[in-house]
Amino acid sequence: MPRHYGPYGGSFVPETLVPALSELEHAWKTARRDPAFQRELHRLSSTLGGRPTPLYFARNLTRRGRGAEIWLKREDLLHTGAHKFNNALGQGLLAQRMGKPRLIAETGAGQHGVATAMIGAALGLETEVYMGAIDMERQRPNVDRMRLLGARVLPVTTGTRTLKDAINAALRDWITNVRTTHYLLGSAVGPYPYPAIVADFQSVIGREIRAQSRRTFGRLPELVVACVGGGSNAIGTFRPLLGTGVELLGVEAGGPSGSRGAASLSAGRPGILHGSFSYVLQDSDGQVAETESVSAGLDYPGVGPEHAWLRDSRRVRYLAVHDRDALRAFHWVAEDEGILPALEPSHAIFAALREARRRPKRSRIVVTLSGRGDKDLAVVLRGSG
Ligand SMILES: *Cc1c(COP(=O)(O)O)cnc(C)c1O
Repeated sequence: MPRHYGPYGGSFVPETLVPALSELEHAWKTARRDPAFQRELHRLSSTLGGRPTPLYFARNLTRRGRGAEIWLKREDLLHTGAHKFNNALGQGLLAQRMGKPRLIAETGAGQHGVATAMIGAALGLETEVYMGAIDMERQRPNVDRMRLLGARVLPVTTGTRTLKDAINAALRDWITNVRTTHYLLGSAVGPYPYPAIVADFQSVIGREIRAQSRRTFGRLPELVVACVGGGSNAIGTFRPLLGTGVELLGVEAGGPSGSRGAASLSAGRPGILHGSFSYVLQDSDGQVAETESVSAGLDYPGVGPEHAWLRDSRRVRYLAVHDRDALRAFHWVAEDEGILPALEPSHAIFAALREARRRPKRSRIVVTLSGRGDKDLAVVLRGSG
């Protein structure tokens, strides 16, 4: 498993964290080869999580596009409502394997916090979740869910009071409590081995897309689309399809029109953030820039290092979609298919529909519907009312 992706990745952390990262790397490498671990991962993925998630033909969205068929990979049907489950379960089991009784996590939209609180409850681990004060306001229902699942939610009032600052707070906690605590990082970002571990646990999405496409329409799709925040659902979707000839498209948050939003790959430059070298949205002085997006889950100035390398080596194309267009796509999916999508994958669906219009009816596009939209209703009603 690579420590670097081209020039990207690595591990830029204080000395105190080095042993914990090595312990985690060791636990994960032995777990990967341990049939008992894999059996438990598989058992809980299906009986607690609801895997495999369906590949759904979006007939009415396809009609709207009047071109290629659009299929949705239904990660929104997973337990706790998003792909975050896959990683929370995997890392929760690793924490158990390392004998650590306490989980900490950061959360932006609250989805990762909910997934961590859920797995903490299911595995009997004490759970504390750092969340930016602004995100706590925007994502109230998820704060309530975490608390009801028995986790403590710790408001972060420093900096921009969003995800970036919550990660800093979680890292500080980890440095102090590293012997008893596993930091359950929520996306394919951070120092090695996190990007590799998270991609590994999320790759179940792409493996299922591969198998389900072959079974359902006899071959792989022409194009696969996923939204990119830190990049975990996208890397999990893309990695099993790299080198198969399938075209891959990652969609970042463009924010309000005229802004750079949170589009680190489309509008950022290489730099170091949260222990890893990758693309970072920066101002002209090289400071981490403020981000803006209608979706809290994409509102992050960095991106996983593997995406940086996939971008530079042109194996995946990345573009940004603005808030307004993501909101339009939200309503299309709701009204056409009877599904309330999260605002994060609504960005991907907008891009997919634009692609579908340019492609022949016989070609197929799969979009990862990374989560459900219940958490976003207040934002959507404000944005369109
Ligand atoms: C957290 C979240 C994202 C963004 O995170 P990635 O690590 O980029 O996948 C996307 N969609 C949903 C539904 C989320 O909850």
